[in-house]
Amino acid sequence: MALVHELSWSASRARSFTACPRRYYYLYYLSWQGWGRSADPERRKAYLLKKMTRMPMLAGDIVHRAIAEYFARRDQGLPWSQEEATKWAVEQLRSGYRESRDGAWKASPAKSVRLAEHHYEEDRIDEGSGAAGDYGKRFVERITGCLGAFFEDPKLESARESQPGDWLACEDMSTFELFGTKVFAVPDFAYWDSERGSGERGTVRILDWKTGRPAEGDRFQLEIYAFYARDHWGVDPRSTTAADVYLLSGEVAEVQVTDEALESALGRIETSIGEMRAVHFDADASKGDPGDFPMVSEDRAGFECSGCNFRELCDRG
Ligand code: SF4
Repeated sequence: MALVHELSWSASRARSFTACPRRYYYLYYLSWQGWGRSADPERRKAYLLKKMTRMPMLAGDIVHRAIAEYFARRDQGLPWSQEEATKWAVEQLRSGYRESRDGAWKASPAKSVRLAEHHYEEDRIDEGSGAAGDYGKRFVERITGCLGAFFEDPKLESARESQPGDWLACEDMSTFELFGTKVFAVPDFAYWDSERGSGERGTVRILDWKTGRPAEGDRFQLEIYAFYARDHWGVDPRSTTAADVYLLSGEVAEVQVTDEALESALGRIETSIGEMRAVHFDADASKGDPGDFPMVSEDRAGFECSGCNFRELCDRG
């Protein structure tokens, strides 16, 4: 079935739109149809830049995949120790780095690792000076620390030891609808926690694994999961608990969803969808006008542009 370009909404899409409308245009419009080798060169370029990642994101993604793998193996009755998981994850990081550095990604950009640090020849990835070794070590330590917390933190025991029959979601991308718009959500892990709540099965607990520091918008993301829980599992959003699990610090920031919080989150989503809809166009029919999507202002460029995948398109950074 042919893919059709349409407006959808997710918390990360909304963040892109707010941070830099031009980046949002590259991500969701100009890169559209850029996946074909014979695609329009501008679309192709935007698509390849979009597919790049950075070491913090790569390390975070690997931690998420390792935790999902832990649950998948438990489901099959196959234990996976902390040591085995960490070894697997560190090797994923190293092979991803090599794939990016040695150009193996070119054969299959959608399925391979291409680091923006390599693409832009950043100093931190220079192997001659030893900077790359120090930089890589940071992420080996991050992965080791995050998985150490997942396997050892007593606060996560009820999730770790939960039974497959109580699991509701594990990194499952899914959609539901709000204000006539498809909303994407990917809860990292959700389960019936029998030690909490008064219902027969306990309460629905949704966890979001975080491999970096707390960020603005983390709580908003959890509130969106409450709507997801209502739509997918038919549970009252107010009876779910949701938490950001900051694996590096061990902090578990729990949110008790209230009527006020839900109302406020709905208002924010409606406003965000309205703003996106005002500039939306059919990217199947044209590449649109980039001028409708302003670049981030010069005073925020240092922060937003220095790590942006699209620097070369904007001649910034
Ligand atoms: S380089 Fe800067 S202006 Fe260009 S898309 Fe990225 S953040 Fe926006």
